[in-house]
Amino acid sequence: MLARVVLLLLLALISNPRAIAKDVRVGVLGLFHPRQLTLQASRQETVILQAEGQTFILEPDSRMTASFHISEDVLILDFGGRVLRTTEIHVSARNHGAVPFLLSVPGKVSRAYRGTLDIKVSRGEVVPIITMDLETAVASAVAAESGSDTPPEALKAQAVVARSYFVAGGGRHRDFDFCDLTHCQFLREPPPQGSPSAMATRETRGIVLTFEETPFAAMFSRSCGGHTRTPAELGLPGSGYPYFSVLCEFCYQSPFRWTRRLSQQDAVLLGKGESGRLAVDRRLGWNAVPSNNFTSRQDGEQVIVEGAGQGHGIGLCQRGAKAMAEEGSSFRQILNHYFANTTLALFGEQDASSALNERLLPPDYLNLGRAEMLHRGRVCTSRAWFKDVRQSNVECNR
Ligand SMILES: [Zn+2]
Ligand SMILES: [Zn+2]
Repeated sequence: MLARVVLLLLLALISNPRAIAKDVRVGVLGLFHPRQLTLQASRQETVILQAEGQTFILEPDSRMTASFHISEDVLILDFGGRVLRTTEIHVSARNHGAVPFLLSVPGKVSRAYRGTLDIKVSRGEVVPIITMDLETAVASAVAAESGSDTPPEALKAQAVVARSYFVAGGGRHRDFDFCDLTHCQFLREPPPQGSPSAMATRETRGIVLTFEETPFAAMFSRSCGGHTRTPAELGLPGSGYPYFSVLCEFCYQSPFRWTRRLSQQDAVLLGKGESGRLAVDRRLGWNAVPSNNFTSRQDGEQVIVEGAGQGHGIGLCQRGAKAMAEEGSSFRQILNHYFANTTLALFGEQDASSALNERLLPPDYLNLGRAEMLHRGRVCTSRAWFKDVRQSNVECNR
């Protein structure tokens, strides 16, 4: 009995979110393949650089710049004429904590971040890795991934999805947890305090999506084409939460439609599911084939592909979430719709006894087959759904 009480106390301690300071390590600016970077302090705080046992100080608003470039696979730090050869540089505040700073790829991009920074060399590029607070990462991802006309409740749903991904995803990179591209989650600088993205993040602080009491790396796409999909349908590996196909009212009524003309060779690749689509996108450029929801027909030497939706269509549909929010749905209702049979929990408190936990749909929906979907709490069967959204035929059992 005593052992059980001790164990429960220990579990309560471990699961207290105030006891868990979750940081996220994000590799940034990889899109620019930098061989050179510059670093400046913000107007408010001193920035400390450390390398090879030496310390360099960037005073606030001093216009002093530290620059880094690669020479023969070694990192060269140039600090106002003081030159140092090293393999790694660590950047922080005086108290070793997070600090605001401006990072630039000369002639290409400048971004203001907040966190601690490690600069390394990998495969001939300078790699800046920012360790930032989870909520800063969430706000940055929400701001980068959402349109400026997104209503607050849809932004909050996006924040919960982004946070769940940061908490449970990762492991796709060697030197850091997440990149700042759509490969992981698109992320730029943190939004201003009073911005809609920052507010949506604050108002959902700590909330994650869980399945069977475990947070999962929730997925989303720009528009589903009428109906969300499961990883299994697209030939993608599962990740704990099985996902369900759900009818997306807005995309169903007015799907985003597209037409493309492809070579025979590229069209064959599309037959391989999501990995094939991404391979065609890599060959022909981003958005060459916007989604995996299409029909195709031969036209001479070429193949005409007509489809609906943008992205893989798994999980939250941003277009549908926006429409739901505009019609008065809360972020809980939006998440309830796209992530059936999951529970909202505070990160670190996802045990069933937490008063804040909220089950989104009763467990009997767990037994759905892959061809079935949920629509307003009814179990439905779709027929030939993806051949043409307009001609799809849905039967609901209840
Ligand atoms: Zn990535
Ligand atoms: Zn949709």
